[in-house]
Amino acid sequence: EPSTVYVITPTYRRPEQVADLTRLAQTLMLVRDIHWLVVEDSQVKSPHLGVLLQSFGIRYNHLIAPMPDRFKKIRGAKPKGVANRNRGLKWIRQNAVEGVVYFADDDNTYDVRLFNEMRNTQKVSMWPVGLCTRTGLSTPIVKNGQLIGFYDGWIAGRKFPVDMAGFAVSVKFLLERPNAQMPYKPGFEEDGFLRTLAPFEPHEIELRADNCTKILVWHTQTKKNEPSLNVDKEKYKNTNIL
Ligand code: UDP
Ligand code: MN
Repeated sequence: EPSTVYVITPTYRRPEQVADLTRLAQTLMLVRDIHWLVVEDSQVKSPHLGVLLQSFGIRYNHLIAPMPDRFKKIRGAKPKGVANRNRGLKWIRQNAVEGVVYFADDDNTYDVRLFNEMRNTQKVSMWPVGLCTRTGLSTPIVKNGQLIGFYDGWIAGRKFPVDMAGFAVSVKFLLERPNAQMPYKPGFEEDGFLRTLAPFEPHEIELRADNCTKILVWHTQTKKNEPSLNVDKEKYKNTNIL
């Protein structure tokens, strides 16, 4: 009986990083049988993140996977978190034998019940994601208990027009597909990955969250903290001490 939920979280350096990771960790602390794979978009592991991750008492591994330089230079949409997620998948292939894999970005909001919804996935399970794209919702469309399509602000010819936070994959199912991985294709990461799980068709999707009627995860985004002072030059000047 599958039990472990392997949560793959891409993360990168920014002022909001520790706040976002703390919030996610303190959600995961409320869930049983979690194994958290935190994958930094970096050449080296940040020591302060090591200390932070250790402090939560969650089973975890701290991994690194920098975005390839050729994508860092792009001015438009970058393949954010792709190297990280593929590193997490590699770890799963080397270490896991059962359970389920979930890609949990560090800035989303997760209801603790979501992890138990995905825990017994046989192939791929899916559910709605709130606050997603301009339509405010990304979800499988279900009629009489059957999947009949997808609702998303950006269908774009995708076979699986879903958000990263909207599906989980059985570890056994993944291990039977040694070539499954995420493409460096902005906007098509989910669809590309799910297509590499072939043979796998939409009718095989396991619908969760009460036939996709409940929202248990939200694609929230943490507002960037833009310091209005030049903190380097003004470092010790913003004080009322004379
Ligand atoms: N991310 C990353 N490197 C980057 C940008 C983002 O590793 O250069 C991670 C980020 O921490 C998050 C995921 O990739 O877990 C998706 O990024 P973000 O949340 O910024 O994307 P959006 O909310 O715009 O979909
Ligand atoms: Mn995000």
